[in-house]
Amino acid sequence: MIIVMQAGAAREELARVVARVEELRLKPHVIVGTERTVVAVVGDERAADGRGFETLPGVASVMPILAPYKVASREVQQEPTVVTAGSLVVGGGRVGVIAGPCSVESREQILATARAVKAAGATGLRGGAFKPRTSPYSFQGLKEEGLRLLAEAREETGLAVVTEVVAPEDVPLVARYADVLQIGARNMQNYRLLEAVGKCDKAVLLKRGPAATVEELLLAAEYVLDGGNRRVMLCERGIRTFESHTRFTLPLATVPWLHARTHLPVVVDPSHGTGHANLVTSMAAASVAAGADGLIVEVHPDPKQAASDGAQTLDVPAFERMMDTCRRVAEAVDRRLG
Ligand code: PEP
Ligand code: MN
Repeated sequence: MIIVMQAGAAREELARVVARVEELRLKPHVIVGTERTVVAVVGDERAADGRGFETLPGVASVMPILAPYKVASREVQQEPTVVTAGSLVVGGGRVGVIAGPCSVESREQILATARAVKAAGATGLRGGAFKPRTSPYSFQGLKEEGLRLLAEAREETGLAVVTEVVAPEDVPLVARYADVLQIGARNMQNYRLLEAVGKCDKAVLLKRGPAATVEELLLAAEYVLDGGNRRVMLCERGIRTFESHTRFTLPLATVPWLHARTHLPVVVDPSHGTGHANLVTSMAAASVAAGADGLIVEVHPDPKQAASDGAQTLDVPAFERMMDTCRRVAEAVDRRLG
């Protein structure tokens, strides 16, 4: 249910509505917009039926939230959410670019990559320190040492650090070093992990599961929002289909579809979405044209030597060319890259 406050409602009137919602053991999410303040009431709404919220002072109207996700929905917040984390801005006409290797491998590798992607216009640095690998025998990441190296790269370049957290118990550790916590595709429906990052003060990049619908993605985001963390970015990274010419199938209609239903910004990952370095630039450009608020792209100084995902990883010159192309596309759709 959405309780829409009157334009000039007093703070005490809002406090009274919030207290009333809490009395009913429901959860109020206060959303202060430029035009109006609303209280999104979540929980078993049957408890609120017939409780006369309409007649409380300061209340303009009460209406149901029709979407199954609530706080994520456009019904609750019309203005798009802009997520800012250090140097990274995603949304509001800015197309944030998060670039870097699949995995942090060494000090030299991450520093060289950070310098190069920064010079090319990236605004965030990616790099996995805790890697969710399909095989237990594959490189699992440098763990805390990887996080330290990412923090050193941020220190030098100013780039915001985006890195994955794979388990709820690791959230405090990863959050000490990262600016953005990435929830990987395999963990999109790890609800305990979503709750843990929901209570954290770092921005979240939530990747779509390869077999999840976009509605399930929004419901996963709802866990994070419901925990109190509003800095959530959604990420389309491709889904599993019968197709085999690409590693995953990258459905870009996700971008405008999500924009119509949620205020959360949408990032596209053309690296995992295609699995082939030679397809990345085209799909990055197409993502920007489709209205993406951000890109996350794998870049390595020497992709052939990469410990993971080398085949889909751009080298530095290719990333520079990608940025050049995307910058021009962004301009054509009235946005700014970086
Ligand atoms: C990654 O970003 O390197 C990664 C593991 O991505 P995904 O979770 O989308 O597979
Ligand atoms: Mn990867």
